Amino acid sequence: MKTYQDIKSAATIDAIIPYVEALLDIRFKCVKKNRYNAPCPFHADTKENFMVYVNKEDEVRFHCFGACKGDWDIADLIMLRKKYPFRRAQQVWAEHLGVAEFTFDDGRSPCIPEPDETAEPDEPVGFVEPKQPDEKMVATLDDAASFYHELLMSNEDRFRTVWDYLARRGVEKDTIRRFNIGYAPPYSDEQHHGRALIAGILPRVEKDPGIFNAFSDAGLVRFLNDGSVKGYGYYSRQIDFRRKDPFSRNYGDYFAGRMVFPIYDADAGVTGMVGRRPESRGVRWLKHQAREVPLSAKSWLYGIEKAAPYIRQYRTIILVEGLFDYFAFYNLLQGQDKLVVASTLGSYLTPEAATILKGLDIENYIAAYDWDELGRNGIERAAVQSGGWVYYLGGLADGQDPYDKLEPVVSAISGFSLQHL
Ligand SMILES: [Zn+2]
Repeated sequence: MKTYQDIKSAATIDAIIPYVEALLDIRFKCVKKNRYNAPCPFHADTKENFMVYVNKEDEVRFHCFGACKGDWDIADLIMLRKKYPFRRAQQVWAEHLGVAEFTFDDGRSPCIPEPDETAEPDEPVGFVEPKQPDEKMVATLDDAASFYHELLMSNEDRFRTVWDYLARRGVEKDTIRRFNIGYAPPYSDEQHHGRALIAGILPRVEKDPGIFNAFSDAGLVRFLNDGSVKGYGYYSRQIDFRRKDPFSRNYGDYFAGRMVFPIYDADAGVTGMVGRRPESRGVRWLKHQAREVPLSAKSWLYGIEKAAPYIRQYRTIILVEGLFDYFAFYNLLQGQDKLVVASTLGSYLTPEAATILKGLDIENYIAAYDWDELGRNGIERAAVQSGGWVYYLGGLADGQDPYDKLEPVVSAISGFSLQHL
C-alpha cells in the first residue's frame, strides 16, 4: 500500500499549481522551470513572496519569504486554509489524487499545530516604551485607545458583561470615561471577529497601506500566521479566508477579548496599553509588545498623569501593585483632592519609574500591600535618593476592603502629619 510520503510527492509542480490556486484563491506566475511565485495569501504581501519550488527529494514545497517566513508542504497548506487536523489534510490530498487507500502518517505536521492546540496563551502584563519617543506611535496609540473607548461607551447593552465586571471592580461610567478605558471584542464576537480596530481603520488602510504599518509597529495588530509565537495554533486558526482584503484576513486586534487601559505619562501622552480579560481565568493580563521596538525603560506608573499635581502638593505618593487596587484607592481619594496614588503594575518599582518619582520631590512613599523583598528594595532605594520615608501598608487580607486600611492614612496626608502615623 502507498504511504503518505508516496502520495505527498505524487503530483508534479505543474499539476499541483491549479489545485493550490483554487485552494488559496491566488494566481501563480511561472518564473522559470519548477518555480512559481504569487503574493502570499497569509500576510499583507505587496510583492510576490509566496514561492513554489521542488526540493532535492522531488517534493513540491511552498515558501513565504515575507512576514510568514514559513516553509510548507501541501498538507500544511490544507491545514492552514481549511483548519483541518493533519490526518484529515492527508485524506483530502489523497482524495484529490484519486488514491483510495494509503497508510497515514501518524505523526504530526512539523510546522502547523493540530486544531486541538487552540487555547489562547496567557502572558503576564508587560511594558513597551519606545527608546526614542515617537510622535507617530503616540498618535496611533491614542487613536486606538479612543476607538476602543467609543466602542465600549456606545455598546452598554451589548458589552454588558464588561460593564458589569468593571462596576464590580469599582470602575463606574465616569471613571471609564476619565481613563479612556475601552474594550476590544474577542475573536468569538459575531460582529467584530476580533478585528474591531482593523475594520475601523480599513477604509483608510485601503487608500494608504502605510497606515496599517503604523498600527502594526505600535503593537496594536497581531499577525496571525506567525509560527514563532506562543499560541500559533490558536491564532493561525483565526485567519479568515472569507475576507478578501489581506489585512482583516491575516491580522487580528492584538487586544482582542480584552478591556483596554491606556497608560499615560505625567504629561498625559499615551505610552502604552494593558489589556485584561473581563473574566477571571489564568493569567489575565496581556503583554503589549510593539514590533521591533526593544522593551526598554519600564517607566509606567498608572494614574501618574492625574496624580502628579497632588503628589507635588503633598509630597506624598501611595504606590499600589495592581490596576484594580489603583481604582479602589482612586475612588477613595479623588473626592478629597488627595489623588496621590499610582500603580506600578507589578510588585516592583523600576529604576526608571523611580527616576520619574524623584522629579516629583516626594518625601513620603506609602507602599500599599505586602511587597516582596525585591519590591521593597526598589522603593527604599528611591526614597533614600530623595531623602524620603517609606511606609508599608501591609497585611491586607484577601477580600478586605482597602478603604478600611486606608482611611486613617488618607486623613493623615497633609504634607507633614504623615510622619506621626
Ligand atoms: Zn506570507
